Amino acid sequence: MTLLENHYQVQGLNLLDLCAEFGTPLYVYDSAKIVSQYNMLKNAFKQTKVKIKYACKANTNINILKVLKNAGAGLDTVSLNETRIGLMAGFKPEEILYTPNCVGFEEIKAGIELGVKINIDNISILEQFGHEFGSTVPVCIRINPHVLGGGNSHIQTGHIDSKFGISIHQIRHVLRVVKANNIVVEGLHMHTGSDILDADVFVRAVDVLLDVAGEFEDLKYLDFGSGFKVAYRPGDVTTDIKDLGKKLGNRFNEYCKEIGKELELWFEPGKFLVSEAGYFLAHVNVVKQTVSTAFAGVDSGQNHLIRPMMYDAYHHITNISNPTGVQRIYSVVGYICETDTFGYDRKLNEVREGDILAIHNAGAYGFMMSSNYNSRVRPAEVLIHNGEAHLIRKRETLDDLIRNQIEIDLSKTAELTK
Ligand SMILES: *Cc1c(COP(=O)(O)O)cnc(C)c1O
Repeated sequence: MTLLENHYQVQGLNLLDLCAEFGTPLYVYDSAKIVSQYNMLKNAFKQTKVKIKYACKANTNINILKVLKNAGAGLDTVSLNETRIGLMAGFKPEEILYTPNCVGFEEIKAGIELGVKINIDNISILEQFGHEFGSTVPVCIRINPHVLGGGNSHIQTGHIDSKFGISIHQIRHVLRVVKANNIVVEGLHMHTGSDILDADVFVRAVDVLLDVAGEFEDLKYLDFGSGFKVAYRPGDVTTDIKDLGKKLGNRFNEYCKEIGKELELWFEPGKFLVSEAGYFLAHVNVVKQTVSTAFAGVDSGQNHLIRPMMYDAYHHITNISNPTGVQRIYSVVGYICETDTFGYDRKLNEVREGDILAIHNAGAYGFMMSSNYNSRVRPAEVLIHNGEAHLIRKRETLDDLIRNQIEIDLSKTAELTK
């Protein structure tokens, strides 16, 4: 989003025009930004056989999936329906890694039927898998190396109490199950949670995985998950992708040389690829001055973007209707009957009723975590691609809210209640 001639634009399109055309609240995505993030990561690791699997739980709009497919990405999915949407978008089954957590064996079998790669994250399922499929279907195993990244405790997955992955300390047990059932382990995986800032922390976790990788002779790839930090606040420190590429790429190549086999290096970022490409645009309904606070109340709330309330996430906010107005302090809040503050005490160019506020970094876990709470409809989504705006999801209507409700006949009074 750049400020040109006093208005904010993406790929040459004025964001205010988009609001006029498609209404508010509105999610807007910039395909060029998604592709440039993909290429940045790809290029940082070009000395290795790198594959990038988009962790699509961040945003499964089929058009976003296609943008990443065209860029060359594969997919990481966490549910059968994500997997099916990926197939609909045109990904080949072998380009998809299905990484569910705590699903029943039926869902694993259904994934195998879809032909996608399976990532197993507990020993119970590994045993069932071994009994049923033995060496006929190769698998990936999710290991928890217990190396901690930063970030909010809700999104850390590497700690000792985490439900994710099989503990690195249980590796002997894993090997027994693998051997007893002739399971072909073609991949090892780790995802330590979000917001790893330091390349050295990442390499430390990778070392833990490499320590045991030698035990698996059918190995073809190592998947190091995600956890790349993007800037949410202006001036935020982010993962230095080039530094990581150098340090981790070198370590990985060294390892391949040691074992005399060229493995593939996989990543599965979500946020890194799509977060910054997204803007959430909301209309200011009221400016309300209370005794203590100036509130800017918008036509949205935690039903459309819950990250600030759920994770205490900071999302940068700008007043795109008044880019040169004097700056004042506001708390930006929603219309839900519940505390739903998008930002406390933000310095914004003077906010007037009718202005449009842009909430930044809304491309990941924005629409996907939206709900119909307060019987509000979900917003529309627009993709800007090749300088043109495309509606990629219609705004919901009252019909959508009522569609699956079944109205029964409550007019007759039963004897029981007389
Ligand atoms: C959510 C998730 C990711 C993506 O995490 P980001 O922080 O969005 O990059 C990657 N891998 C797995 C297994 C996940 O569950």
